[in-house]
Amino acid sequence: MEFRLPATVVPNRYDLRLEPDLDAATFRGEEVVQITVAEPVTEIVLNAAELVIESVAVERGDGTVVHGSVALDADAERARFLFPSPIDPGPWRLRLVFTGVLNDRLHGFYRSTYKDDAGVSHTVAATQFESTDARRGFPCWDEPAFKAAFGVTLVVPEGLAAVSNALITSETPTGTGKKVVTFADTIRMSTYLVAFVVGELEATDPVMVGNTPLRVWCVPAKKRLARFASDVGAFSLDFFERYYGLPYPGDKLDLLAIPDFAAGAMENLGAITFRETALLVDEAAASHVELQRVADVVAHELAHMWFGDLVTMAWWNGIWLNEAFATFMELLAVDAWKPEWSRWVTFGISRAAAMGVDGLENTRPIEFEVRAPRDCEAMFDLLTYEKGASVLRMLEQHLGADVFRDGVRLYLERHRFGNAETSDLWKALGDAAGQPIPEIMDGWIFHPGYPVVSVEPDGSGLKLSQRRFTYLEGAPAGQWRVPVLLRASVKKGIVEKRLLLEAGERTVPLPAAPDWVVVNAGGDGCYRVRYAAPLLKKLLGALGRLEPIDRFNLVSDCFALTQSGAMPATDYLDLTTRFSTDTDRNVWTVLAGSFAFLARVITPELRRGLASLIRHRAGSSMERLGWEPQPDESELQRQLRGDLIRLIGTLGEDGAMQERARDAYTRYRDNDMAVDPNVLPALIAIVAWTGGEEEYAGFLDRFKHARTPQEEQRYLYALAGFRQPELLARTLELTMNGEVRSQDAPFLVRTLLSSLYGRGLAWDFVKQHWETMARQYPGSAYRRMWEGVTGLVSAEWERDVHAFFDSTQIVLGGKTLAQYFEQLRVAVSFQEREATALATYLSRIKR
Ligand SMILES: [Zn+2]
Repeated sequence: MEFRLPATVVPNRYDLRLEPDLDAATFRGEEVVQITVAEPVTEIVLNAAELVIESVAVERGDGTVVHGSVALDADAERARFLFPSPIDPGPWRLRLVFTGVLNDRLHGFYRSTYKDDAGVSHTVAATQFESTDARRGFPCWDEPAFKAAFGVTLVVPEGLAAVSNALITSETPTGTGKKVVTFADTIRMSTYLVAFVVGELEATDPVMVGNTPLRVWCVPAKKRLARFASDVGAFSLDFFERYYGLPYPGDKLDLLAIPDFAAGAMENLGAITFRETALLVDEAAASHVELQRVADVVAHELAHMWFGDLVTMAWWNGIWLNEAFATFMELLAVDAWKPEWSRWVTFGISRAAAMGVDGLENTRPIEFEVRAPRDCEAMFDLLTYEKGASVLRMLEQHLGADVFRDGVRLYLERHRFGNAETSDLWKALGDAAGQPIPEIMDGWIFHPGYPVVSVEPDGSGLKLSQRRFTYLEGAPAGQWRVPVLLRASVKKGIVEKRLLLEAGERTVPLPAAPDWVVVNAGGDGCYRVRYAAPLLKKLLGALGRLEPIDRFNLVSDCFALTQSGAMPATDYLDLTTRFSTDTDRNVWTVLAGSFAFLARVITPELRRGLASLIRHRAGSSMERLGWEPQPDESELQRQLRGDLIRLIGTLGEDGAMQERARDAYTRYRDNDMAVDPNVLPALIAIVAWTGGEEEYAGFLDRFKHARTPQEEQRYLYALAGFRQPELLARTLELTMNGEVRSQDAPFLVRTLLSSLYGRGLAWDFVKQHWETMARQYPGSAYRRMWEGVTGLVSAEWERDVHAFFDSTQIVLGGKTLAQYFEQLRVAVSFQEREATALATYLSRIKR
């Protein structure tokens, strides 16, 4: 099958007039496309899906009109327009009339519904066209390289707002209760960036950023939650104009919260759409994590206005660059906006998560060949966003921030309004840096996996070597050009060395044997480090002198080595005592994650031993922090308090902590301000963990009547945190009966599948209902739901998981399923390997 449209006819400009009927969930469209015909043709082929095309004609300036007939190919999502006589080369206008359906699958032109405070239901019509769903909104050349200008007109009821990519140029009442809203022309751009939103939405007053008015749109009751996004939006827009050295390519910027939204957000030029949790937030009531999420997503989408919208990948294999770069820029902008958030340090957690997937044999290169457009759907994952951004950060640090920025400017300048390939960025960066970039980068981009760098003493210096890191034996080898920053304490002074580790071994001379040495200092390298025993011992003795990111990487690498079998689990547990007074949040994220992993692996009898261990490890840090926020503590310490309370009060089973948390939650119910917003999520988790019927009913009510999108999410996920099977069964029912939005339900299922007390129940439930779920849930979220099976850690469950997928033949695209299987294998083989040693270790722990 040929996946690309023929280029014999190309679009230059679309004039679109769409009239949605929100009540009937349909729309009617008229379209005129200015096309260039390159050679005589009797057919025009373009994309269309779930549309009924009523009439087709081509017209020429001299008045010639040729009517055509339509042949639809539903599988290929194409329309072929057939003409009785050849259409001569030259400019023509293609004139189409069509109808379509506002679907409920959160793609194409779809409908989203919400209830207002009075319980009245309202409908919003919105679009989500990336990757290949513009064809569900209007017939088009739905490939990123077919750029065109768009002139949009929407015909809507007079009381509703209509938003598209550009400014409104006129609004004319029809006299029949409707109005015709006409928008200015867009720049030349790809179809996947076109957007229409129609509904009872309201906007904030515009904030002017240079010449660009910036507004936040949402359902009327939530306008009070728009301020924070507006602030970070205004900062980011200005930041990017300066960084890129090019003005914002649109004429206005609207950020729109859509009640039902499959992804996090979508970078439609000038009309960026978001799920509500990623845009609307009450700054005073939200936790840091919730605020950071909004800041990250807003900055990310704004970064795309240049990188993605102004310059676009030529084909879907370029998705990685689009997303990796936007993620990299998001971090740069948020770090500049709130330096106290230490965003590059906390990014360590995302990098480590990507390395979790990339350490599998079933990983993939960041960039790979995409033939069928739908193959790119599997690209929207940790490897694209987080590994991709890590690799770019590594390159930026290696080249120097200014040189890197100059290269980016050169790239945008050269390719604006057009399309580009990965090699074009390397070329521009190489021109700016005066060195060949592909030599360094190709290994990271076109080969799967990443290295573990081993460090051994060698005389007074060090010996470094690399091999591919894998959790299971047998993965093929790999070699990388590894930019290494090394920091050593030598004779009470600090020595730093920057070097490139290539194939084989490399010795690094030092003036004297070091007291300690950190490889990957600063943590920007996308690799793991394995220290020889004497070096590890010295490093653990010098933890107080390491930066938080270096302590984080040390414990993260050690736990990964433990999961891979290179370090005994009991050694790792011994090592965790060294961090028991650490008050860095990143470090504790790894520790808490590793304890949660162990909880899923060990037999239920050992859970009390694990709980004692957790209380021992976390108790001192908690004591150092105290319950009450301190005025002089850092942003990250403030967050850590909540994390430790949650850990000690749930898996740690600390009765006193549980009681205190329940009391604090009661106080919070009477007075919102009684509890620090960073601690509140932990209290809710503990109330669920220790609660019963009454608490469940209370949380369900809170979920249904939440005051903010964050509160809604908090109580929703808390419903998965109870322990009684009958309550968890009720939560599972909610995922199917329409009470939980289809944008959230699959993630709730995933949480239950990987939870300690819900997983067996959830697995049985999913086996029974997966077909309905496949129909009801958005495709991308449905795919991620299945990640939950990685929590079913036992040989018996593992066999059952394989048998289930064998018999159902569920296809998740790309290597997604193989990755889930392998992650489960890693956990089960860890269980088989370590069961006896862990049983001995944990049963000896004093209560
Ligand atoms: Zn993106």
